[in-house]
Amino acid sequence: MTWARPVPFLLLSLALMPPAAAAEPPAKEQFGRKATPAPLAARAIGSYAKGCLAGGQAMAINGPGWQVMRLSRNRNWGHPTLIRYLERLAVEAREKDGWRGLLVGDIAQPRGGPMLTGHTSHQIGLDADIWLKPMPDHEMSTAERENVSAVSMIKDNFSIDPSVWTPAHVSLIKRAASYPEVERIFVHPAIKKALCEAAGDERRWLEKVRPWWGHHYHFHVRIACPKGGDGCAEQPDPPSGDGCGKPLEEWFALFRRPAPKDPKPAKPKPPLRMADLPADCRTVLEAGQMIAAPPLPEPVPALPAPVPAAAPVAASTAAAPPLPWHARPAVPLPTRKPR
Ligand SMILES: [Zn+2]
Repeated sequence: MTWARPVPFLLLSLALMPPAAAAEPPAKEQFGRKATPAPLAARAIGSYAKGCLAGGQAMAINGPGWQVMRLSRNRNWGHPTLIRYLERLAVEAREKDGWRGLLVGDIAQPRGGPMLTGHTSHQIGLDADIWLKPMPDHEMSTAERENVSAVSMIKDNFSIDPSVWTPAHVSLIKRAASYPEVERIFVHPAIKKALCEAAGDERRWLEKVRPWWGHHYHFHVRIACPKGGDGCAEQPDPPSGDGCGKPLEEWFALFRRPAPKDPKPAKPKPPLRMADLPADCRTVLEAGQMIAAPPLPEPVPALPAPVPAAAPVAASTAAAPPLPWHARPAVPLPTRKPR
């Protein structure tokens, strides 16, 4: 027992205290720095592209039928409902479709929220990217997971690359879309076209598979707000129908359009501020700061007594039941000698 512990806590709290609301860094910088989840009940707060995650759960980096990629990003955190879904998909795709395993890409940051790089969504722990490259037959090293390249499934904007695309990809995406908790799956329009062509008579699942930019190295699964989830913003259902006709043609028409001669540079959107997110995201951001303080080694070495007379006082303090830290008398810190 010692009074030394509260001092770093105090300093840490002061250091983390925003000096003023106006000077507060953008939300992505604050959420991007959080290495641990908010120790609160699991809750997806806000909307997919403007929110945060309480009680995030890490997906194990290895499991029966999956491996998590790019571990340095620390984005294998999600709402427990999403993690359960991914684990189940991994196992069932392996058992029933012969898909060896999922390569799991970005899910969310430990506390969700906006990210410093990539992704507008993935903020509330209900979005996950799954690579379209099949899982290798061995457990990959950390370096391999960091450096191995993803594989694009398209030849150009209009067609898939038949040298890498397989019927197993169709089965995997069909299975991924088949669970009731799934809200949408995003794939490149050329992949959607390939799915439309391969689907046959059973086409209901195609409704959830939405064409979107990118998404040819991976597909993106989005699950609906978990039941009873307070403050999670529902997204309207996707338009009904398989989406294989006109909507897809519109995408291809967009790709065929000649590039403008002098394109106006797109105005960058200002980064999200804490005030743009639901108020509960402040609680998520700040929760557990005391717990997150780096642990001190035990036992903590006693500080040198400021004056020789203080030694008996220290001894008696050790015997007496300790006061709560805020009630203890201020103790002068020893002068630090630079070495
Ligand atoms: Zn994604």
